[in-house]
Amino acid sequence: MTVYEPYDWQALRDQMVQEQLAARQISDRRVLAAMRTVPRHAFVLPDVRHLAYRDSPLPIGSDQTISQPFVVAYMSQLLALNGTEIVLEVGTGSGYQTAILCQLARQVYSIERHRALVEQAAARLDALDIHNVELLIGDGSQGLPDMAPFDAILITAVAPVLPITLRSQMADNGRLVLPVGNPQHQYLERVTRHGDTWQTERLLPVSFVPLIGRYGFGQHPSGPLEP
Ligand code: SAH
Repeated sequence: MTVYEPYDWQALRDQMVQEQLAARQISDRRVLAAMRTVPRHAFVLPDVRHLAYRDSPLPIGSDQTISQPFVVAYMSQLLALNGTEIVLEVGTGSGYQTAILCQLARQVYSIERHRALVEQAAARLDALDIHNVELLIGDGSQGLPDMAPFDAILITAVAPVLPITLRSQMADNGRLVLPVGNPQHQYLERVTRHGDTWQTERLLPVSFVPLIGRYGFGQHPSGPLEP
């Protein structure tokens, strides 16, 4: 049996890379290649598959969203990966950003608090033969001390401040990218560790769902949890 596919996904992906990424600030060739390779339509809900290569975020279930392609590429580029790194991702969501990181780094650990999302992401990554990844269910705001230090850390949910736990799990010269602020006002930041100092660059205004957990927001993200 042949399944009829009404869309030329590769052509849509090439167009996305050209118009939304290469034409903006994405110049890392490995990031562009990863974005050209990973099928974003396989990571969104079936009823919005035809919108997968648009310049916008999309729903992925459990009240969460997959980021706009530009934001995925931009955050990946900020991590400056060359293929040798061990990376921690907090907020697996659909697994799309995870799949991109797997193309760019040696080994990826990704933590997500919603079991249903982890199960779906695991099935998708498996179907795409992506195996340099370990998915974990839990509170990623605490990081993964057993596997630390990490050459790069990506947090894909907004935190009130950089969780101290994650900061301490960065390798020397490691990079960490996260949205900081509150659900209404937030910026993407890149933190680079040099020994015992951490240098922060504030970049784009962005819009991410809240990091819910011990070092994030409480269940109702009106303010940070008391320690
Ligand atoms: N990068 C994802 C989008 C992530 S949306 C993608 O490409 O699809 C942010 C995700 O962070 C959501 O799935 C949310 O459930 C998760 N999240 C929020 N707080 C978390 C925490 N403390 N630990 C792990 N995951 C968390």
